[in-house]
Amino acid sequence: MLSNSLVELDRRHLIHPVASYRGHEERGVTVLQSAKGVFVTDAQGRELIDGFAGLWCVNAGYGQPSVVAAATEQMQRLAYATGYFDLGSEPSIRLAAELADLTPGDLSRVYFTLGGSDAVDSAVRFIRYYFNALGKPEKKQVITLEQGYHGSSTTGSGLTALPVFHKGFDVPLPWQHRIPSPFPYRSPEGEDHRAVTAASVAALRDKVAELGADTVAAFFCEPVQGSGGVIVPPDGWLRAMRETCRELGILFVADEVITGFGRTGTMFACEHEGVVPDLMTMAKGLTSGYVPMGAVVMSEPVYQAIADGAGPDAPVGHGFTYSGHPVSAAVGLAVLKLYTEGGLVENGRRMGERLMAGLGALAGHPLVGEARGRGMLAALELVSHKDEKRKFDPALKLGERIFACAYENGLIVRAFPDGVIGFAPPLTCTPDEIDLIVERTRKTLDQVLDWADIR
Ligand code: PMP
Repeated sequence: MLSNSLVELDRRHLIHPVASYRGHEERGVTVLQSAKGVFVTDAQGRELIDGFAGLWCVNAGYGQPSVVAAATEQMQRLAYATGYFDLGSEPSIRLAAELADLTPGDLSRVYFTLGGSDAVDSAVRFIRYYFNALGKPEKKQVITLEQGYHGSSTTGSGLTALPVFHKGFDVPLPWQHRIPSPFPYRSPEGEDHRAVTAASVAALRDKVAELGADTVAAFFCEPVQGSGGVIVPPDGWLRAMRETCRELGILFVADEVITGFGRTGTMFACEHEGVVPDLMTMAKGLTSGYVPMGAVVMSEPVYQAIADGAGPDAPVGHGFTYSGHPVSAAVGLAVLKLYTEGGLVENGRRMGERLMAGLGALAGHPLVGEARGRGMLAALELVSHKDEKRKFDPALKLGERIFACAYENGLIVRAFPDGVIGFAPPLTCTPDEIDLIVERTRKTLDQVLDWADIR
């Protein structure tokens, strides 16, 4: 009853992010009502294992008492404090200091945002300010990867290279450029990892040469591409790209919105290769999705150039009402404690190995072209013909149908439209919970194989 009226209200009033509006009006909403640990319960009382941690964000699992207590206590003590001008609050200062400590190398200055999109926007704004301050105002172009995702603001959606985020929105903007993604399974270089990395380095050099080195400001990338279909670059790729940026005199920005906070087995994915970016963007796992928050962390030299450029009296005119929100920051501190002292990054690393072993065992399934991933970030790419790696016809709406089928089997996954199934479970999973995700995935694949129209 309650749920029926909610469905009607939703149909009439709520615009959903990245939904087909007409399709949603027809299908109606599925209301999620409560969650504990790694299990979510919907309004029909159905319990599902969350193989996607909400939207790759609930890294610490649902219902953590210490996180709830931290938010409650902070709301009671000081629900809001601006960070504008010279004001601040204790949790935001302590969280900035902890992030400076946890991030690699000389990443030491933290600007808080409300999520990932505005972290990316802020990074672009700071990069512009930086080059203007250095007297290089012609450095404006930004290069990203095909299949990359960097948010849904005008800036971020233009840096994104997924057509659905461009269509109808008049992006990308003229200063936004792309090079091919390092995608061993589908790259023209085949699965020769060295060749894939060499091709990326060459593509970046060529693009910078084409645009003119003096005009290029930065290269942005995800250490593992998430929304593009969990694309894992070869080992050594991130380091090679970082070094190439240094040689070319352009800033290297790691967008760790998904890969940060234990998602790939280390606190940040850059650590796998000892890479220190000039700027790093983060969100999601920063607060484990309990409240909104993101950040851009910049290296000491980038910060110093901006501060010197502004001079002693003029403000740097970049600020959000909720930058460094004290409740979000208190949640962030409580969540970080779970990752570090609570051993969640370590647990996630071990469970990630188990997940990859389980999904790897599904690679022999007739529908699975490739199982890939790093840590607790993984995917199965389904193909209609394995030998040719042939993708399914988009008209089959395989993503929607696989999502619904998995859901019926008590599993939430990310089902991309082209038949890639994404996994990003909470880092709190036990071995039995990982096995349950794999088992329900196997059952789903077997059912998909029975669909008469897919071959
Ligand atoms: N960058 C990356 C790599 C992301 O995956 C996302 C979100 N999925 C964003 C930026 C944007 O973050 P948000 O949705 O919090 O604005």
